[in-house]
Amino acid sequence: MQQGGTEFRISGQAGSEGIAIGLAYVLNQSNRSVAPKKIKALQVRSHIKRFQKAKALFLEEIEELSKNLDKATREIFEAQKHIVSDVEIDDKVIRLIEKERFSVDFAVFETFGEFIERLRESGSEIFQQRIVDLENLRNRLIDLSCENGKQKKIPKKSILVVKDISPTDLVNFYEMGISALVMDKGGITSHASIIAQSLDIPCVVSAKNAVQHTSTGNHVIVDGNTGSVIVNPKTETSEQFKKRSRELTKQKKAILHGNEESITTDGFVFHLRANVEFTQELDLVKKNKAEGVGLLRTEALLYGGFEKRAEEAQIEFYSKILKETKGPVTVRLFDVGGDKLNIHNQDEDNPFLGWRGIRMLLDEREILETQLRSILKISGKYKGRVLILVPMITDVQEILEVKKVLNAVKNDLKVQQIAFDEHIRLGIMVEVPSVALLASQFAKEIDFFSIGTNDLTQYTLAVDRGNARICSLYQHTHPAVWQLIHQTVYAARNNKIPVAVCGELAGDIIGASVLVGMGMSELSMATHSIPKIKHHLSNNSQESFRQLAQKVLNSSSAEQVKAEFKALFSQ
Ligand code: PEP
Ligand code: MG
Repeated sequence: MQQGGTEFRISGQAGSEGIAIGLAYVLNQSNRSVAPKKIKALQVRSHIKRFQKAKALFLEEIEELSKNLDKATREIFEAQKHIVSDVEIDDKVIRLIEKERFSVDFAVFETFGEFIERLRESGSEIFQQRIVDLENLRNRLIDLSCENGKQKKIPKKSILVVKDISPTDLVNFYEMGISALVMDKGGITSHASIIAQSLDIPCVVSAKNAVQHTSTGNHVIVDGNTGSVIVNPKTETSEQFKKRSRELTKQKKAILHGNEESITTDGFVFHLRANVEFTQELDLVKKNKAEGVGLLRTEALLYGGFEKRAEEAQIEFYSKILKETKGPVTVRLFDVGGDKLNIHNQDEDNPFLGWRGIRMLLDEREILETQLRSILKISGKYKGRVLILVPMITDVQEILEVKKVLNAVKNDLKVQQIAFDEHIRLGIMVEVPSVALLASQFAKEIDFFSIGTNDLTQYTLAVDRGNARICSLYQHTHPAVWQLIHQTVYAARNNKIPVAVCGELAGDIIGASVLVGMGMSELSMATHSIPKIKHHLSNNSQESFRQLAQKVLNSSSAEQVKAEFKALFSQ
């Protein structure tokens, strides 16, 4: 690579793994503004038509782009569809054109502007990501309604450097062949990171002022593993990264095509299961050789309204999952609220501390009973394979209540002579510190624990899992989280019930090592993490993981945990 200028580094956060070396393409989309323009009465119809057409084009564009993408990206697009189809937005744009005689581009600009302002004024951090989404959506709709919708063409293999990017633009640029993404804004849980992971391109987010400090044509290295961007790298630096990149590619291939057994070098057998939400993920579950589904998220059944959550639709969904997988399938009851879908769309000041998971289900008995009946019915056909998992439990009373409802549904089925698995296991998510702290009391009431480290981390460290500004504080390997996990494992062992982990921690190399070191053998994770975790666990001894776990329990920071891991496994 030919070099020019002085080498410098921009530190950001690791959004998606991998290394890319190439030329930067800087897209500096400054804040858009559209001046108010009046139209004549005769033009009103055509401007309304242009708006309707822009919406239709946008929805088509999303539909087309979502076809080959994974569930995380499709979910993001699904949310965008909802915004564009919002009647409030529709009414306002049409009113501005019809009554106020504003041009379509200004009507769209003004309408979105009002919603954006409302979000901004709320001061809520949760809405920051929504503001960016709305701005991106607004710009795309304006372009499409002005028949100016053609995407900028950028050279293949470019490293795209942006302030921020909409999901559709990112997928479009990916299709043009970009090799990596660097973004000024965003955190590791931002849409850009999630999509970059799905597309398997390296990405660095929160790369402060990257747009300002980089120019199109600059040589750039993106290290999506450490979250750094090197601009104008020296020849030695480039050579170093090229070598590392070749090693990583080789390693990835070997892991994916290898036939490693799920056993450590000293004979500890473990099971790697998949976290699944959509039937479209089942191919990946097979490809990555998951041993069953450790967490079946069911919230998607609620997206489609009443029909999709009806008993028949639920049974069809569970049955497809069970038919196409082997091993256990742990079905989690609807976990609405917080960052997930809210069935009543009501506003809450603190949705993460609000009407979530089991709190909603115990208030909406019919939804709970229908789901339990559907799961029980399918369990009759797949005896021993179906487990029920209850989300967001915080108090023992809640599980006692769920058991009452479950028994009543079982009795009804018996009366109707409908088969079900009499020994179906009932477990709870450990995602709130109160459950870990009282794990031995909970253990007496249930058949298993499943630790949800995504929420356990946010509730233990008081860090919103979706807030980009404080994402560096969201550390799922923090020793405080480990103490709670350890306490849960201890209680499970004393009460002779199994404990699994289904949060992202299980798909993290350090996380999986410590979990196995604590004696946990059931880890459930995003399917794409399975090969790398299997490779790491099966090439080391449980004894080494046990030593690591001991050190971790004596650590005082996530940095120290990382250092202990490095010292033992030199990665
Ligand atoms: C968790 O909280 O760790 C978990 C697995 O559930 P979700 O990410 O769906 O909240
Ligand atoms: Mg959770």
